[in-house]
Amino acid sequence: MQEFIQKIIADNKKYIEKGTLPAYIPELTKAKKEALGLSIVMLDGKEYHGGDHRYKFTIQSISKVITLLLALEEKGEEYVFSKVGMEPTGDPFNSMLKLETVRPSKPFNPMINAGAIAISSMIEGRSSMGKVEKLLAFFRQITDNPDLTINENVYLSEKRTGDRNRALAYFMKDVGVIDKDVEGSLDVYFKQCAIEVTTQDIARIGAFLANDGIDLKTGKTLVHKKHIKIAKTFMFTCGMYNASGEFAINVGIPAKSGVGGGILATVPGKMGIGIVGPSLDDKGNSIAGIQMIRDLSEKYKLSIL
Ligand code: GLU
Repeated sequence: MQEFIQKIIADNKKYIEKGTLPAYIPELTKAKKEALGLSIVMLDGKEYHGGDHRYKFTIQSISKVITLLLALEEKGEEYVFSKVGMEPTGDPFNSMLKLETVRPSKPFNPMINAGAIAISSMIEGRSSMGKVEKLLAFFRQITDNPDLTINENVYLSEKRTGDRNRALAYFMKDVGVIDKDVEGSLDVYFKQCAIEVTTQDIARIGAFLANDGIDLKTGKTLVHKKHIKIAKTFMFTCGMYNASGEFAINVGIPAKSGVGGGILATVPGKMGIGIVGPSLDDKGNSIAGIQMIRDLSEKYKLSIL
């Protein structure tokens, strides 16, 4: 496994130059474009790492999976799905189109930005700071990394330029999807996206999902199995933006990417995978990361189908 990790990193470096860094969050253009790293965590706790696995990047959209789990635990399925749908959109992650044109006006799923902002608004707490603290504690527990923290510069950068997300959130307030303080909800969302991680953290999240919500170290159930199943299903159908169908055919495992260059993947009952490669393709997925996970899936026959 260790050797194969080195091989796929070397084999796929060539794709990096074809991608770009996301300029709509200016701070993300400071990322190391040529970084490429991979971590795998098996359910017995064994870990494999290669390449730039110590490189720190912001979790971005991958955080949507974790906030969804917390919202499901706090509010229950019925409430969550009264506000957010269960269907893929086929549109870009930040699209506004279907929010207005399809009735009733609710975001199609929790993996697109509108859905994720609605989910963040559901997290219980008196202040947005308290909500973020709770979220961070949850992330730290799942990754077994007490040092996880927020990259202030990335957070502030997105807060300054995130007008499209702001527009989505205000629209959702108007149609009753968000009933709380919009700016507070956006603050939770921008901060959860700016949590700084390594591939090890991401792979541990993947292993936690693969283990049906049972903490690998303590054996304690942290999240209901049904909620984990819901999260994995959304990852499978909507996790790779509007390339999710192609990814399902070529790789065949639940995964979620983020514009920080990360990919979280989970092989149920087997392992968690964390990838970083900040150079993105035109859909917003790590351009070399996608190829690496494809190679990994082919070699170890990981497709769940
Ligand atoms: N914070 C980013 C945004 O809202 C996350 C997008 C992503 O990673 O897909 O645009």
